[in-house]
Amino acid sequence: MLSITGLGGCGEVGKSAFLINSDSTNILLDYGVKIQQETIEYPPIPKRVDAIIPSHSHLDHSGAIPVLSKARIPIYLTDASLELTVLLLKDSVKISERNGQPINFSKKDIYYILKNAKTVKYEKDFFINDVRCRLFDAGHIPGSAGILLSAKNKNIFYTGDMKLEPQYLVNGCSLPREKIDVLITESTYSDRNHPDRKKEEKNFKERIDEALNMNETVLIPSFAVGRAQEILLILKDYRKYIALDGMAQEATKIILRHKKYLKNGPELEEIFMSAKKVKNNKQRDMLLKKPHIIVTTAGMLSGGPAVYYIKKIYNRKNSRILLVGFQVEETPGKILLDTGVFRNNDTKLQVRCKVEKFDFSSHAGKNELFKIIETLKPKQVICVHGDKCGKFAKDIEKEFKIPAIAPKNGDKILVR
Ligand SMILES: [Zn+2]
Ligand SMILES: [Zn+2]
Repeated sequence: MLSITGLGGCGEVGKSAFLINSDSTNILLDYGVKIQQETIEYPPIPKRVDAIIPSHSHLDHSGAIPVLSKARIPIYLTDASLELTVLLLKDSVKISERNGQPINFSKKDIYYILKNAKTVKYEKDFFINDVRCRLFDAGHIPGSAGILLSAKNKNIFYTGDMKLEPQYLVNGCSLPREKIDVLITESTYSDRNHPDRKKEEKNFKERIDEALNMNETVLIPSFAVGRAQEILLILKDYRKYIALDGMAQEATKIILRHKKYLKNGPELEEIFMSAKKVKNNKQRDMLLKKPHIIVTTAGMLSGGPAVYYIKKIYNRKNSRILLVGFQVEETPGKILLDTGVFRNNDTKLQVRCKVEKFDFSSHAGKNELFKIIETLKPKQVICVHGDKCGKFAKDIEKEFKIPAIAPKNGDKILVR
C-alpha cells in the first residue's frame, strides 16, 4: 500500500508535514511549524518515521524537526539546507525564550540534527529501504529542493516551495522527467500572478533614487534567508549606501559558503564585503544620521533590529520603509500596511514616514504553477501550502482535466 497523509500545511501556510507510507517504510517530507503572534503550532508526532526529508530551511518546513531529532531518525537534505536550518532553528529558540512562547524542544535537540543529517546532492538517487528518493533544485532559496519519491511503481513529486522563473540569487527550478503519478504542489500564490519582475525592480529603484536624493533613510525589512540576499543583488549599484543588520549577516555568510547553489555568487560576495555590517545600537544610531539603505530582519517586523529602527524613524518624514516580502495576516508588517500603525508587543506607533510594498516573491505565481503542472503532466494533484487550496484544485481540474484535491490536515490519500 502507498499513501500520503497531510499532517500539517493543508489549507494553510505553516507547519508543512506530509507522511508518505509504503508498506513498512514511513518518510516524512518536511516537518515545519506555524508561528503565530503568541503561540507556535506543531504538526502531530507520527508513530513511526524512518527518515525525514526537509525541502528547505524555512521554519514552516523545518521548524519542528528537533522534536523528532533525539530519536536518531536520519535527515536527508542539501548541505546548504542543513546549515541554514540550524541557523534558523537556533534563532527560533532565542526568539521564543525572549517572547515567552512555549517551544517543544531545546537547543540541544538542534545539535542532534547535525548528528543525524545525511547531506545529499541534487539529482542523485538515494534509498530509504525500498523507496528511491531524489532531490531537484526548487529555485526558491539556496539549497531548496523538490522531492521525488518512487515506490511500488509510482512516482510522487513534492514541490516544497518552488519558483520556476530565475531570481538574481538562484536559478529557476529543475523538474523530474519521470512520469508523475501524484504531484503535491505548493499553492501560496495560486490565485494570482506576480507583477512583472523587471517593472517591479524599476519602481523599487526609482523609490530608492528618490529617497537618496532627499537624503533619506531607507529601511528594508527582509527575511534573513533568501530575500535579504536577493535584495542585495538587486541593489548592487547602490552598494556604498548599503548596511546589513541582524541575522541576514550570518545567513549571507552561510550562503556564500555554498556558491554552487547561487546564480551570482561572486557578485553577492562583493556586495556583502562592501556592505556595512551593523552590530550594535550605537552603530545603528550613527547610520540614521546619513542616507543609508538598511537591509535587516525581521521581514514581517515581528522582531530583530527592524523594530529598533522603526522606533527611531516612524515619525520622520525623511525616512521610508520598503516591505519586500509576503506579510502574513496579523503580523506587525501586515498591520502596518493595512492601518499605518506599527504594533509590536506593548508598542503602538502612528507611522508618519513613507511605507511601501514591493513583490519580489520567491514563490511561483499562478502562471508558473500551471507551467509546472503542464510540464510534469501528473495523473493526480494534491494542493497544499496556501490559503486557497480548494479553489486552486478546482482551477487545475478545469484547466488540465485531471483530478485535483485540497486535503484537510489529517486526511490520508491512497495512491493507486
Ligand atoms: Zn520557503
Ligand atoms: Zn513555505
